[in-house]
Amino acid sequence: MRAAILREVGDEHLDLCTDVETIDPGPSDVRIKITHSGICHSDVSAMNGTIPQGAPSVLGHEGAGIVEEVGKDVSRVAVGDHVIAVWSPPCGACDFCNKFHRPNLCQEVMMDASRPINTFIQGGEEIGAMARTGTFAESTVLPELGMVKIDKDIPLDTASLIGCGVMTGVGASINTAKVTPGSSVVVFGAGGVGVSAIQGAKIAGAAEIVAVDLKTEKFDRVKELGATHAVTPEELPDTMGEITGGHGFDFALECIGNPAVMRQAFDVTRRGGTCCIVGVGRLDEFVQFSAFELFYGEKNLVGSYYGGTDARVDFHRLLRLCEGGQLDLRSMIDRTLSFDEINDGIDACRSGDVIRQVVEF
Ligand code: NAD
Ligand code: ZN
Ligand code: ZN
Repeated sequence: MRAAILREVGDEHLDLCTDVETIDPGPSDVRIKITHSGICHSDVSAMNGTIPQGAPSVLGHEGAGIVEEVGKDVSRVAVGDHVIAVWSPPCGACDFCNKFHRPNLCQEVMMDASRPINTFIQGGEEIGAMARTGTFAESTVLPELGMVKIDKDIPLDTASLIGCGVMTGVGASINTAKVTPGSSVVVFGAGGVGVSAIQGAKIAGAAEIVAVDLKTEKFDRVKELGATHAVTPEELPDTMGEITGGHGFDFALECIGNPAVMRQAFDVTRRGGTCCIVGVGRLDEFVQFSAFELFYGEKNLVGSYYGGTDARVDFHRLLRLCEGGQLDLRSMIDRTLSFDEINDGIDACRSGDVIRQVVEF
């Protein structure tokens, strides 16, 4: 089958192969025929070493598809079911799932040492899977807990986006930052994650939502998707003055992964406000805070991992919001790519030119 493989960290492009197989599903595993996979900036970050990634590996972690084979102990899904892959699913039994009630931080399913590390095989060689999902392939194998079953009438192309970017962005606004009605919000980065954070802030009832991006050509669409203002970083101080009287925003969300912008997001958060870091920078990049300002500003600084999701609940919430017209995934998609166009899609994502692209298998 076809699969897009990162040969070595640092490669500009993925190796598009046609001779890859999956491993056989274990007793509690499921083989999914991937119909669609979104391209997320984290795929680019896995390629350039920002996000630690073994190689060779099939990239992609934002996918949806149809169950094509189940292990003998699988009970939650059956052949023919439609599912969205979950890159950090809850086991339902560990301390993070229950005692701390942070199911997005559960590592029991995806880090399960009893399962094979590598999902794919090519010419006898084992090939890994990004985030143990590997959705840039016609099929992948996941533990049955690593997916959410959805109704068959839901389009799988938009559903795939819920698997990462949309859940992360909407969840960062409503679950992590907990944006409140009537508040002022600034979102740095109008890619798939940032635009989803904007839509999440609108759903939460924010009064002003300012998108900040370098790509002004995206501003009209970003406003159609919920931003009340869209500005370049240079224009932000004036806009902030107008909206907040110079106090700073109630909520600031960084959806880029740039340490200088993370610092800027903290700076434009008002005293007592919330600064939520969604973007992913490198392990060896740092953001500095003075030992005085943390006390003085009394700001809430919080990271958001997968939008703080409980995938079992939140994926359905998002689908209902789509159905109700409050969440627009269709307008987020710039273009649908074929397998052969994956590297064009990676290039467009790297340059920040798009909101979301979907690969159709
Ligand atoms: P994207 O590439 O689609 O969008 C990034 C946007 O930021 C682009 O519009 C780009 O023009 C803009 N940008 C870049 N540098 C900028 C700057 N200095 N000032 C203003 N705008 C700038 O990315 P995405 O897929 O939306 O992902 C965004 C970030 O979120 C990435 O770091 C990704 O790894 C991360 N992410 C985190 C999680 C999580 O669980 N926290 C999940 C998914 C993705
Ligand atoms: Zn758990
Ligand atoms: Zn992602």
